[in-house]
Amino acid sequence: METQILKQCRKCGQDKSILQFRKQSAAKDGLKPYCTPCDDQIAKDRYNANKIQITSKIREWQKKNPKKIKKYRWRWKIKQEIKENNEPKEANLN
Ligand SMILES: [Zn+2]
Repeated sequence: METQILKQCRKCGQDKSILQFRKQSAAKDGLKPYCTPCDDQIAKDRYNANKIQITSKIREWQKKNPKKIKKYRWRWKIKQEIKENNEPKEANLN
């Protein structure tokens, strides 16, 4: 005789076998509230959301700090020139 214990996924709302849920020791029933495919999707979404958030934060900062970027680029240019010539071009520093 086979008894299948079902658990409802909080994301897709389907009743699935508890075998389709990953373990989570912190949870009351010891299982994650989402089934494995949903859990994977959640992880993916979270990753993508983070990626978008990080790039948009950088863009925002770049918009707010165009002078700083210029400065960084300028410094980098000077560094490259120093590397190439092995001596700083003092005349260009101001
Ligand atoms: Zn699900």
